[in-house]
Amino acid sequence: MKVIITAISLYLFFAVILTQFFAAYFFSKGRTSYRKAFSVMVMFLSVYLFGYIMIINSNDLQEMIFWNQVQYIGLPFISVLWMLVALLYTKAIYFLKLPMGILLFSVPVLTFFIRLTNQWHHLFYKGWEVREFFGYKSLYMERGFWYYIHISYTILCLFLTVIIYLTGYLKNKAGYTKSHFTVFLFASLIPLIGIVLVIFTYSEHRIDYSALVVPISLIIISYGILKYDFLEVRTLARETIFENNLDGMVVLGPGKRIIDYNKAAEKFFQAINITLSNRPIEHVLKCEPKLLEIFESEDNCKFSLVIDGEERFYEIDVVSLGDSRYGNMSMLKSIRDVTEEIKIQEKLKILATTDSLSGLYNRAEFMNLANREFDLAKSNHEELSILIMDLDNFKLINDTFGHAAGDEMIREIGKIIAKSFRKSDIAGRIGGEEFAVILRNTSLEDTVKIAERFRETVAGRKVIYGGQEICFTVSIGVAAICGKSGCISNIEEVLKRADNALYRAKAGGRNRVATLEAGGRCVACLS
Ligand code: GH3
Ligand code: MG
Ligand code: MG
Repeated sequence: MKVIITAISLYLFFAVILTQFFAAYFFSKGRTSYRKAFSVMVMFLSVYLFGYIMIINSNDLQEMIFWNQVQYIGLPFISVLWMLVALLYTKAIYFLKLPMGILLFSVPVLTFFIRLTNQWHHLFYKGWEVREFFGYKSLYMERGFWYYIHISYTILCLFLTVIIYLTGYLKNKAGYTKSHFTVFLFASLIPLIGIVLVIFTYSEHRIDYSALVVPISLIIISYGILKYDFLEVRTLARETIFENNLDGMVVLGPGKRIIDYNKAAEKFFQAINITLSNRPIEHVLKCEPKLLEIFESEDNCKFSLVIDGEERFYEIDVVSLGDSRYGNMSMLKSIRDVTEEIKIQEKLKILATTDSLSGLYNRAEFMNLANREFDLAKSNHEELSILIMDLDNFKLINDTFGHAAGDEMIREIGKIIAKSFRKSDIAGRIGGEEFAVILRNTSLEDTVKIAERFRETVAGRKVIYGGQEICFTVSIGVAAICGKSGCISNIEEVLKRADNALYRAKAGGRNRVATLEAGGRCVACLS
């Protein structure tokens, strides 16, 4: 008998070492909740098994009772934690409401206290004694009322665990995941068998079969780890990518509850003084109605926020996860900061549309906008004027003062144009020293006056370059459409007429404003 006890002790001791290893392994392997739950579960298992080793090696009743009490530090929680691992592993946990979760742990907590205080009420064990079994001293306990509650609850949890894994096995199509479920399924079935054996044979054998079979479950799990490494490099890789992704990621479960989020999402919400937690999104974002609307929406969207006085732009993309029936859709929301991209796009747009010397629109952009304005004016029957100006004797200026001085003058005229016209007017450099301005809602007559004023401004301006004062003048050609229905034309034609008017101004002696028609009539329909 002594040899058998020693063999069983060694076998259980091996199981304790294995549980310790599992606890450390799963805890170090990452931060998923099911690994943590698994670590805690195996730690409790370890206490339970160690307690049993001590009981079978004790001769004294008090010693045995003490170690039985030690066993109950972990024992009540093992089955519920085992079920929790299954719920977390299959993600079924998200369908569980918090009160239900608390309720699940209430029986084990009660069992713990009832066993602890058994000597006062004997609800757990009515009595105990040492009995001989083939010359071996074993602890006999007369079961009380709560013992049956505890054992029924344990069986229920393990039974549900088996059902959870079985469902997972049947529902999952991927062979890889199927093998995980098979391993867990068998590992859960074995303790269930052990407990059934305990119920029916304990009074006779006084052997805790569940303690004896649990190591087999552990060996099955070890086999699973060695074969499939299922707790798990692949999951670990995915989690690392999720956790360290530069995009913020928030997983919303049924009821739009925040189930998970990564560091970037945490940082994003911290910047707007919001702390993420595993609560429904409507609670977390109740002070940010705009953001709440975006996060509750099932569509991708863009939005901007002012953070530390700077406007930042974000794109929120949605990926639906799992079953969207019954309004229980889970989704992954990713938050991408696109501020830098938008800034670069804006810079590129400016570079592509602006003339670097004058700061006005370049020819291509000017023509774009001119076409748009022309179409608008025509469809709204509004007046539209164009003036084209050209620096007088610019070649001479270049020749006299140098090309750089000429550039300086182009810069200067750009500034004068920007200051002299309205924000709504469109001004561009359309040639070397040639500029054009479109004036909305302005008659030919008024444009001529505006052009005249501008001409005078330029004539009164001097550019100081290389210590020399350079005076310059412009000649301006003006044309307009009146917007009446008969006034049919295209922008090129109006520009051509303005250009011809400019030619007339040059021919007339320069530093002057000219139109093709006298008396302020529309160039297009001559009304
Ligand atoms: P007009 O009064 O008849 O307009 O005489 P102009 O000398 O201004 O006319 P023309 O078209 O013959 O000369 C334009 C000159 O403008 C020729 C070219 O060297 C100069 N030019 C064109 N683009 C630039 C530029 O970006 N910088 C400088 N410095 N000169 C330029
Ligand atoms: Mg010129
Ligand atoms: Mg010219």
